[in-house]
Amino acid sequence: MSHNQQSIPEDICRLRQKIDTLENQLVEIRLQTHVLLDIARALNASLDTRVIAANIISAIVSLIGIDQASVCLYKEKTQEFEVIGVFNSETLSPQIPPTLDLSFLNKVLTEGVTYYHSPQGMQSWEWICCLPLQNAQHKIGTINIHAIRQPEITTEQMDFLETVAGHASSALENALLYAIVERDSITDGLTGIYNHRYFQKRLREHISLCQRRKRSVTFGLLIIDVDNFKHVNDRFGHQFGDTVLQIIVEKLLSNLRQGDLIARYGGEEFVIMVPEATEKVILIISEKIREVVEETRILYPSTNKAVSVTVSIGSTLWHPPDSPSSLISRADHALYKAKNLGRNQSVFE
Ligand code: GH3
Ligand code: MG
Ligand code: MG
Repeated sequence: MSHNQQSIPEDICRLRQKIDTLENQLVEIRLQTHVLLDIARALNASLDTRVIAANIISAIVSLIGIDQASVCLYKEKTQEFEVIGVFNSETLSPQIPPTLDLSFLNKVLTEGVTYYHSPQGMQSWEWICCLPLQNAQHKIGTINIHAIRQPEITTEQMDFLETVAGHASSALENALLYAIVERDSITDGLTGIYNHRYFQKRLREHISLCQRRKRSVTFGLLIIDVDNFKHVNDRFGHQFGDTVLQIIVEKLLSNLRQGDLIARYGGEEFVIMVPEATEKVILIISEKIREVVEETRILYPSTNKAVSVTVSIGSTLWHPPDSPSSLISRADHALYKAKNLGRNQSVFE
């Protein structure tokens, strides 16, 4: 046999082996693609940052041997990190490992590069990995992983972690944006308290809750209207008028109890819902608010003179079979009486 004839079966054999290897690699790649697709789906399925954090951690835990992990959100305003998910709750700590402080996470996020290291002072079989979560515009947070007595991370695993971090960044950013939109849709832009629409929703909910209860429970409603506010605007301008409204809201907020709900009902009108109230409680709250506003002095910058305003308050209690509109009408009627009595009054009906 010639040399060529001899080597053909060997070549075929080698080619077969190569095909096998490639096929195996293909299976592996397919598997990884499926896993990543599942992860992307899971991460984008929720708009709750804590659910997303739990999904990020379980994705990592499913493919890499680790001991502790946390997902932190970066708060741009306060420059602090908030832990929104942890793995291994016994060591519920944002500092992973404990020897590293949060300024370290800040460094990772600022540099925008994954940190992987067996840090000094740690055992050689320990490693940590901090992955920045970010996009072109925002710093979002970090994923922090700590492994003890686990094999060193492979290049493929690092690729996997960075891909997860990419998906995690967009999922968390979506959730954060959604939270902003959701909050904006229920708050008043000028004063930051709830808006009219949200108040109506909560009022309906509160009424149906009271109707379902066996024990007779009720709640109070106050409508607060700034007296002669048109005059304030005419005299000092709309911008100062806006400041007055903001300061009144601050005063109202500082006099609320936990559970009370305050909203801007309209222009210079505010409503407060007081759960489980009595007539006596409502009268005390109304008078307190009226006095606090009356005593408030607001500096008018152009003249450096103090300006004060008063409010009139109409209040009532919910009784069956009150509907939202009959309840509001009664409080409105009480407010009308307070205005007719000369303003700076509170009337209960
Ligand atoms: P009354 O004592 O009878 O309530 O008199 P009033 O002047 O307060 O009532 P009126 O309803 O005549 O006027 C309300 C004024 O509130 C008119 C409107 O321009 C002003 N206003 C409503 N919303 C805002 C706001 O967001 N900013 C400012 N600066 N003014 C507002
Ligand atoms: Mg009014
Ligand atoms: Mg008014």
